[in-house]
Amino acid sequence: MRYVSTRGQAPHVGFVDAVLGGLAPDGGLYVPQAWPLLRREEIAGFAGKPYAEVAARVIGAFAEGEIAAADLRQMCAEAYATFTHAAVVPLTQLSPQVFLAELFHGPSLAFKDVAMQILARLYDHFLGDQGRVQTILCATSGDTGGAAVEAFRGRKNVRVVALFPEGRISEVQRRFMTTASEANVACVAVKGSFDDCQAIVKAAFQDESLRQAVDLSGVNSINFARIAAQSVYYFTTAVALGAPEREVSFAVPSGNFGDAFAGFVAREMGLPIGRILVATNANDILAQTFQTGRYARGKVHPTISPAMDIQSASNFERLYFEAVERQGTETARAFEAFAQAGTIDLPPQAAAYMRHVFLGASTSEKDTARTILSTLNETGELVDPHTAVALSALARAKDFKGPVVALSTAHPAKFPEAVAAACGLTPSLPRGVADLSAKPERFDRLPAEADTIKAYVRAFAGA
Ligand SMILES: *Cc1c(COP(=O)(O)O)cnc(C)c1O
Repeated sequence: MRYVSTRGQAPHVGFVDAVLGGLAPDGGLYVPQAWPLLRREEIAGFAGKPYAEVAARVIGAFAEGEIAAADLRQMCAEAYATFTHAAVVPLTQLSPQVFLAELFHGPSLAFKDVAMQILARLYDHFLGDQGRVQTILCATSGDTGGAAVEAFRGRKNVRVVALFPEGRISEVQRRFMTTASEANVACVAVKGSFDDCQAIVKAAFQDESLRQAVDLSGVNSINFARIAAQSVYYFTTAVALGAPEREVSFAVPSGNFGDAFAGFVAREMGLPIGRILVATNANDILAQTFQTGRYARGKVHPTISPAMDIQSASNFERLYFEAVERQGTETARAFEAFAQAGTIDLPPQAAAYMRHVFLGASTSEKDTARTILSTLNETGELVDPHTAVALSALARAKDFKGPVVALSTAHPAKFPEAVAAACGLTPSLPRGVADLSAKPERFDRLPAEADTIKAYVRAFAGA
């Protein structure tokens, strides 16, 4: 499988280079040259299979010819053995047609573990083969950092620098990063927003000298392997609910648009997905885009669903590229203009293409809290604020037929204050991580300046 850049100027690469390279050298994101298609009978055959087996098949479709099938099966088996639920991503029924996909049974209690656990094993495999040590620079709105640290701590071929916006993430989220004692992990509290952190990562990637000096790599959802790994649970959950015989829809709490885009990928691969509801908090750039056809960056508002406090959704570029019939020059023009002006007016055919699959809705803080309470009262389930954003959007959405899966992206115990304020119950951490608050923390504080952070990365990598 060959990978092309959404901006059309970078050389085509294979899966290994697309994964290890992160952002393409022309500033675009890698996507497969063509979407692999799974036969209907094969999709039907996923019913009842172990999660890791389905993962090996779906991820394998993107890595054809570059990883031996037996190696990938082994990596998937190990990655998903770190989850504490035997189903890996179990479904819970909330009402006759609404189901929750619990994506939070991994080591850092957020859905980011689903992709990061397999990604770390792919890195080990590829870098070990090449005798390389890479530096992963990662911006986190809260959960990516914890999942990356959990997945990469102590690994020989990788160092991790995690940048998080100071004071904008929950204490539990922070502790999943800062309590790692391994020397290959560095955490930095940046005085700014997540968008600032993400812009710094992009600047670092565009600095060719730094890139070479530290062998820079990225595990944000700009990394296509994460998208591939996230498309797996669309298959397992939809098939459990009757696909491919019946269409299943999804409601996805969204920030950087990686998770929702993974649903689009599963659909392109042949899974009969009806609609994908992109649910945002007050940072509603994506919801607005699907409603109005205008992608326009606003100010970032801190909310009780901080992993979605994002106003510049990296993966939207991948959808845009599809919507303009894969014209790299047009995608480059639009996103270079966006970097300057902060807006893109979608061409009408592109907007129509997107609306065929996606719809958007945003939820206020008050409604997020109310939904936590009403879900508890009506179903006995305690949900985290991100999941509540999706459930609130779903309650208002009209044109859904058939079963809908709401992705439950974090364990409620990652956001105990917000959950307790909403419903009076304080969720407790699962047994395996209950000692998190007793461990010492270790992190540095830096201003939101690309040059300062680039120097820090160089020093950490000993370059
Ligand atoms: C990262 C995250 C999201 C948003 O996912 P995207 O792929 O960035 O859209 C939603 N909920 C939680 C808990 C997250 O950690």
